[in-house]
Amino acid sequence: MSQDRLEKLNQLPLRENLRGISPYGAPQINVPIQLNVNENTHPMPQVVVEAITEAVREAASGLNRYPDREFVALRQDLARYLGHGLEEENLWAANGSNEVLQQILQAFGGPGRSLLSFPPTYSMYPLLASGTTTDYLAGYRDADYSLSAESASQQVREHAPSVVFLCSPNNPTGTALDLDVVRAVYEAGESSNTMVVVDEAYAEFALEGTESALTLLPGRQRLIITRTMSKAFALAGARLGYLAAAPEVVDALRLVRLPYHLSAVTQATARAALAHSGALLENVEDIKRQRDRIVVELRAMGLVPAVSDSNFVTFGGLRQPHAVFEALLEGGVIIRDNGLPGHLRVTAGTEAENTAFLDGLRAYLAAHPDALTA
Ligand SMILES: *Cc1c(COP(=O)(O)O)cnc(C)c1O
Repeated sequence: MSQDRLEKLNQLPLRENLRGISPYGAPQINVPIQLNVNENTHPMPQVVVEAITEAVREAASGLNRYPDREFVALRQDLARYLGHGLEEENLWAANGSNEVLQQILQAFGGPGRSLLSFPPTYSMYPLLASGTTTDYLAGYRDADYSLSAESASQQVREHAPSVVFLCSPNNPTGTALDLDVVRAVYEAGESSNTMVVVDEAYAEFALEGTESALTLLPGRQRLIITRTMSKAFALAGARLGYLAAAPEVVDALRLVRLPYHLSAVTQATARAALAHSGALLENVEDIKRQRDRIVVELRAMGLVPAVSDSNFVTFGGLRQPHAVFEALLEGGVIIRDNGLPGHLRVTAGTEAENTAFLDGLRAYLAAHPDALTA
C-alpha cells in the first residue's frame, strides 16, 4: 500500500489490533504454470463439469427463495463421504474452511481469549485471530519443523489457550502429524477447556498408513476436524469447507454464522461434486504420484525435500531461495516463497507442469553451481 493510502487508512477508526497488519496476499500472477497456492491443477473431469452445470441450472430456478439455512442434504452427503460413523448432526460447512475456522474463533475465541498454533504453519491463522480479536500465540517446533507430543502438550499447558489449531498435513512443510500429538494436545487442554482443531485440508493426499484425526472424535467433545473441497475435490473456486465435531460444537457455530451463509448455488455445486467423488479422487492418485516424483527428482538434484502427505513439496538446501523463485517466475513458473530460510514450496501439478518446473530448476542449478548449501 502507498504511504498516502496508509495514512488515509490510519485516519479511520480502525480497530487498534488491525493497524499495521497486511491482508492475505499470495500473488495471483497470470503465468503459464501456476504451482503456488496448492490448487488442484488437473482438469475437472467432464462428467463432473456436466453434473455441476445441471445441478446449478436446477438451483437457479429457485434462487428467488433463501437457501436451506441448515443445508441438510449437503451435510448428509458430507457425512456419508467422511464415514467414521459420522452423521448429519456432526457436520457443518461454510464458504471455504477459512470461514469455518473464522466461525470457530468467533464462537470460542474473541477478546480476552487466545489461539495457539505452531509456525511455520498456515499463514491465515494469525489473520483469522486478528479478524476476531483473539490473541495469537505463536508456539514453536523442533529445528526440523517437526512437532512432538511432549513439546506440543507442554506448550498447551503453559499457555492454556482457548483454541489450538493443529495443521495436519501441515502447510507449508507438508508432513502429517502423528495422532499421538493430537491426543496429547487434547489431554493437555483438559484443565483449560481448550478447543482443539485439526485442519486436515490436505487429508486426501496423505501417504499410505496416515490416519485421520476423525478416528479420535468419539468421546472428545472439544475436538474439531476441518476439511475442504478446495484441494482434493478441485473446487477452490466454489468455496466449500466443512468440519466434523460433536453436535454441540455445531450448535455453537449456529450462534455466529450469518443467516443463509451457504448459497443454493454453492450447496448444489458441492453436492454434485460429492456425487462424483470417485472420478475426482482418481485425479488425487495421479497428483500423489506426481508429488512423489517431485520428491525423488529434487533429492537427485541435491535438494532436501520434506516428507509430503499433501499435494505440495517444501524443499530446503538453497542458499538464496528468493533468487531461485524469481528465476523460475522469469521462465513462466510460479511457486511459493513462504519466507522459510533456505526453502521453497511447490504445488504438485500435472505431469507437464511438474516437468517444466523441474527442468527450470535443473537448468538454474546447472548455471549456478554455488546455489546449494551442501
Ligand atoms: C488451502 C488451505 C485451506 C483451504 O482453505 P479454503 O478456505 O477451504 O479454500 C485450509 N487450510 C490450509 C492449511 C490450507 O492450506
